[in-house]
Amino acid sequence: MIPPIASKFVAGETEATALDHARKLNERGVKAILNLLGEHYAERAEADADADVYIDLVDEIAAANLDACISVKPSQVGLDFGADVFSENVTRIVDHAAAKGVFVWIDMEDHTTTDDTLDVFCELARKHEGGVGLAIQANLKRTREDLARLADVPGKIRLVKGAYDEPTEIAYKDKAAVNRAYKEYLKFMFESFEGGIAVGSHDPEMIAYAKELHDEYGTDFEIQMLMGVRTDAQYDLADEYEMWQYVPYGDRWAQYFYRRVMERKENVLFAVRAIVGR
Ligand code: FAD
Repeated sequence: MIPPIASKFVAGETEATALDHARKLNERGVKAILNLLGEHYAERAEADADADVYIDLVDEIAAANLDACISVKPSQVGLDFGADVFSENVTRIVDHAAAKGVFVWIDMEDHTTTDDTLDVFCELARKHEGGVGLAIQANLKRTREDLARLADVPGKIRLVKGAYDEPTEIAYKDKAAVNRAYKEYLKFMFESFEGGIAVGSHDPEMIAYAKELHDEYGTDFEIQMLMGVRTDAQYDLADEYEMWQYVPYGDRWAQYFYRRVMERKENVLFAVRAIVGR
């Protein structure tokens, strides 16, 4: 059972609690991106099992007619066992989801996975003429070329700042440099993409810049934030923009919760207050 302090960031341990959270978000005008927590397994069977869970989740989303989609981590569905295993599992998920009209996002992990993840995404996006999206990281220097490659691939791209600690030779490490790169890449997307732009950031400065670019270029975009982060802003933004909340769930919540708490001192204070009861 998830302790109350973790339930700020994680929608429960079961599919039913995640679907219930999605239903409540939909009532407030926010759409849901459901993510079963899990990554880097020791056995291929665990990756195959998570792919099966996603296929079941797609059925539940479609049956409940929710404004919801799914987001899958490459290592969760087999990339550690080879690009072919990842491709096989994610293709199974995307083929099934396409038949049910449910959108599938592929999260991006550390730089050693970027080429395989991009290749599989491009193949699936072309096969289904969309229906699938990919996260791209602004902290990686290669992203300029990757976005140029992706400009004429169907589907959506979620631009994020990047959550992995990457080597200096290939990544911007300094916050200001990452922010500059984020803006440069976002501008390129508004100039060159026909749509399918997702701003995966809590940063008011990046969101304001996306609004400016939308006014200038007219390209549609959506905003995505994590469950438990700037929730009131999410509801406010949903009045005017397409707003999606990334909703993790499942029994592997402890590591994810720890990451959320440690990335921001306000979250540490929140956790400490919850533990000491004030
Ligand atoms: P930050 O630079 O962390 O913060 C900028 C500003 O945003 C802060 O100054 C503050 O004003 C505001 N802010 C940020 N956090 C909070 C908070 N907790 N409370 C209040 N205000 C806050 N990374 C990957 O590497 N791969 C992925 O596939 C991936 N998918 C993601 C999907 C979604 C929907 C989101 C939102 C993020 C994803 N990330 C992913 C994580 C991302 O790379 C960043 O690590 C994370 O979003 C933090 O960066 P930020 O843009 O929110 O801004």
